[in-house]
Amino acid sequence: MGFCMDDKLNEECGVFGIYGRPKAAESAYMGLYALQHRGQESAGIASTNSTEIYMHKGLGLVWSVFADPAAMPGLKGHAAIGHNRYSTKGSGTLCNAQPIVVECKAGTIALVHNGTLTNASELRRHMQDDGSIFQSSSDSELVLHLIARSKMDTPADMIKDAIKKIQGSYCFIFLTQDRMIAVRDPLGFRPLSLGRLGNAYVVASESCAFDIIGAEYIRPVEPGEMVVIDKDGMSSHIFEDSPKKAFCIFEHIYFSRPDSLIFGEKVDKVRRRLGKRLAEESPCEADIVISVPDSGNTAALGYAQRSGLKYEIGLIRNHYIGRTFIAPHQDSRRLDVKVKLNPVSGVIKDKSVVLVDDSIVRGTTMRQIVRLLRDKGAREVHVRISSPPITSPCYYGIDISEKKELIAGSKSISEIRSYLHADSLAYLSIEGLLSTVQDPHNYCRACFTGEYPARVPLGFDKLGF
Ligand code: SF4
Repeated sequence: MGFCMDDKLNEECGVFGIYGRPKAAESAYMGLYALQHRGQESAGIASTNSTEIYMHKGLGLVWSVFADPAAMPGLKGHAAIGHNRYSTKGSGTLCNAQPIVVECKAGTIALVHNGTLTNASELRRHMQDDGSIFQSSSDSELVLHLIARSKMDTPADMIKDAIKKIQGSYCFIFLTQDRMIAVRDPLGFRPLSLGRLGNAYVVASESCAFDIIGAEYIRPVEPGEMVVIDKDGMSSHIFEDSPKKAFCIFEHIYFSRPDSLIFGEKVDKVRRRLGKRLAEESPCEADIVISVPDSGNTAALGYAQRSGLKYEIGLIRNHYIGRTFIAPHQDSRRLDVKVKLNPVSGVIKDKSVVLVDDSIVRGTTMRQIVRLLRDKGAREVHVRISSPPITSPCYYGIDISEKKELIAGSKSISEIRSYLHADSLAYLSIEGLLSTVQDPHNYCRACFTGEYPARVPLGFDKLGF
């Protein structure tokens, strides 16, 4: 029996692409490995040697999907795109794994997608009424249908034509036999970076995927930009120049790796600033600062630096369990968070502890962590959260679909403190959050404010979020 060990928001996907490198699929494999945190349900790579498109995908972590010794040698060629999936739209089954490859009048096209289309249900209904048949419940497949229906002549123009009809958050990488095309939505919800590796071009959700293959970061793929890479080099086309931007601020708070550079900023630096600002806003008379590993580590360091309190490793995380723990007996369910985290009693015993984490979703895990710390002798537990309370669902690529899943959606901070049995609880303010990034007006923060920067899917707009 399995049960979910995480009480965290989940990113939908990580994408990677490389053009102009022998054995490109091997680089894509490494890139996906670095992006594993963005999706653990399925992984896949499509490659081309200019004559054919090859593909291998499966359910599971990157290493297990490609453990078959025949998988990598079959992915021939100098260009490859790859995908890690955690599904929000469409269930986590193999038919929803990516890349998706189709044949159409533009030739063979493979696609990978990070994001969520907010007009997917209308488009799907419209196309089904028109006779289209879908192989998956994933909204990414819709885009391939739109491309196939385009009256334009070249793959790049067909893609541009299709993209005009979609709304929501998207970073796409397309692969045809002769080019790779990367596209980012006009509001720029999700990060997408461009890099170089010798003569090859590389595109990835986060720059940590460049480091692992020795590629150099060049710049972000801009919101509303399409980058086309082929044997003649790279060209850039702005397909929509929106004055408004909506970078996901949660990428800095939690989703992206601290060693990545996204939206023009180093994640580690922003995350430390979150912790420092939290210490300024909500100081605490305590003995030590500890983090909930790994998500709270960087903010906890910032909190300790600014508060002058000592930073200690007070919780040890077992890194060998995935998102789901498979318990041998029904009884093992009772182990709960203990399977994943264990307090260091010598560090916390008789201490007043500041416990820092990046966010609270349902509150169930945090409640158990507070109890664990008390059971191991902590005198006081003061919870500090390096983001504001999450009160509203996300429709742009993150898996919070209902307000009732969110503890702060219905409870006040004092009610949450009492539910957690914490001695005190404080969240970072919205102003504090926005003070940690260079261009705060460019960021989406709808899950904290309920003010959505773009339309929400039909049906949700009437629910009063
Ligand atoms: Fe990110 Fe929240 Fe906006 Fe979703 S609603 S894109 S999680 S900031």
